[in-house]
Amino acid sequence: MGDDGTTAGEVGTAPAPAAPEEPDVLRDIESRTAAATDWSGHRPDGLPDGVVRARSVDDVVRTLRWATATRTPVVTRGAGTGLAGGATAGAGEVVLDVRGLDRLVEVRPDDQVAVVQPGVLVADLDAAAAVHGLMYAPDPASAATASVGGSIATNAGGLRCAKYGATREAVLGLQVVLADGRVLRTGRQTTKGVAGYDLTALLVGSEGTLGVVVEATVRLRPRRRKQATTSAFFDTVADAARAATAITRAGVEPAVLELVDAATLEAVDAALGLDLRARGAAMLLAQTDGAGAESEGRAVLAAVSPWARGVETTTDPARAAELMTARREALPSLERLGRAVIEDVAVPRSRLAEAVAGIEEISASTGVRIAVFAHAGDGTLHPVVVVPPEQDVLSGAPWDAACRIFSLAQRLGGTLTGEHGVGLLKRAWLRQELGDVSMDLHAAVKAAFDPLGILNPGKAIVDG
Ligand SMILES: Cc1cc2nc3c(=O)[nH]c(=O)nc-3n(C[C@H](O)[C@H](O)[C@H](O)COP(=O)(O)OP(=O)(O)OC[C@H]3O[C@@H](n4cnc5c(N)ncnc54)[C@H](O)[C@@H]3O)c2cc1C
Repeated sequence: MGDDGTTAGEVGTAPAPAAPEEPDVLRDIESRTAAATDWSGHRPDGLPDGVVRARSVDDVVRTLRWATATRTPVVTRGAGTGLAGGATAGAGEVVLDVRGLDRLVEVRPDDQVAVVQPGVLVADLDAAAAVHGLMYAPDPASAATASVGGSIATNAGGLRCAKYGATREAVLGLQVVLADGRVLRTGRQTTKGVAGYDLTALLVGSEGTLGVVVEATVRLRPRRRKQATTSAFFDTVADAARAATAITRAGVEPAVLELVDAATLEAVDAALGLDLRARGAAMLLAQTDGAGAESEGRAVLAAVSPWARGVETTTDPARAAELMTARREALPSLERLGRAVIEDVAVPRSRLAEAVAGIEEISASTGVRIAVFAHAGDGTLHPVVVVPPEQDVLSGAPWDAACRIFSLAQRLGGTLTGEHGVGLLKRAWLRQELGDVSMDLHAAVKAAFDPLGILNPGKAIVDG
């Protein structure tokens, strides 16, 4: 008798494997239209075939088993605030929206750890930590609208990254559903641990190409009660960049170190009714925190004063909040002036002034208006290309200017993306940054996680 119960000569009919159950796929135009694009404004050809709104890990598992069986490409979607086109989806693709997995599972103050589902908003996670005197350090300017899952998938950065690092530094472990529906647990509950490859670090920033994050264990840090905030104004951006370097040389490690150029100051003034531009052509905003906040604040003051036209240091939380709001409102203020595309190139901190000068040159030679603000503490620049509302920002002169900025950053020893990811829009510059060997390894890693290539195909790690 054979293994299948037949005797020699009989033809066995092996039971066909049960076809995976189809998930609830929404196919109405409204759902598909809403899930087609992200904040980048890029619109792929056609609309996605459908949208699955997952509410549980089981929903995600079921969707991916079905997608594997039917070879259906899946685009995972968080809050859709991404700026690189990573969550955009077109014809032939199904969107897996995971915002419904929105449970804050637990906060363990004694371990300084939280366990959270991907649909929780970044600001809500930080607020939950604050109840225990803790903070979730990664603070993208979109914290109030971006999901934890999306910020992990893009390794989001923020204002506090200068001191506390980007999202990768805050993620200790993940639960991820793989393309075939298997559930992978990575990382650890402990602060230290070296068993195996660091799959957690690999998955952070993988832009939905390797698996779907369904739970994360994240590190919390003590919330710093004391803060000193310094705002300094300069005649030129170059002077502001020199002052930022002077802060680094002084050995101070500000939690926040932001640089804002004249065009951005004008936009913020117009939006918030302020008069920042009258005080200088560039602003540097530095915030020191913790027990040494005030003495470090004094060191910042001393370091920037030789370059500055005016300096103010405050420990008043209300005044500090006003100054921080001016910086946080930079992008929304510029968006009021027309269509805007924000880039996120990064350069070694010592080359910040050269980068800003290069961007000014690109603006002059292309005739495209470009405002710049930057996380001076870690060398990330946000050049914002602004065009009239009727003009397309992702083609012609505006896009040419953006492309020249990518190459400039790479020439200066930097990267085309410090925060937002490659997504769809920046693939053309990836190979020249990573090189052929690295691109081959990326393809091999992708094949190990997702052999059928159904997860966010054509994004993040392929030539475009
Ligand atoms: C006003 C504004 C300010 C911003 N400021 C910053 C900033 O300061 N710093 C910064 O880094 N970014 C910033 N961003 C960009 C954006 O908010 C971040 O990239 C954010 O982390 C994306 O989160 P999301 O939930 O919107 O993800 P989405 O846009 O939905 O998705 C982004 C990528 O992650 C993947 N993804 C989403 N969820 C998951 C999941 N659970 N598992 C696997 N893959 C997933 C998607 O497929 C896609 O590739 C800003 C955006 C805006 C509009």
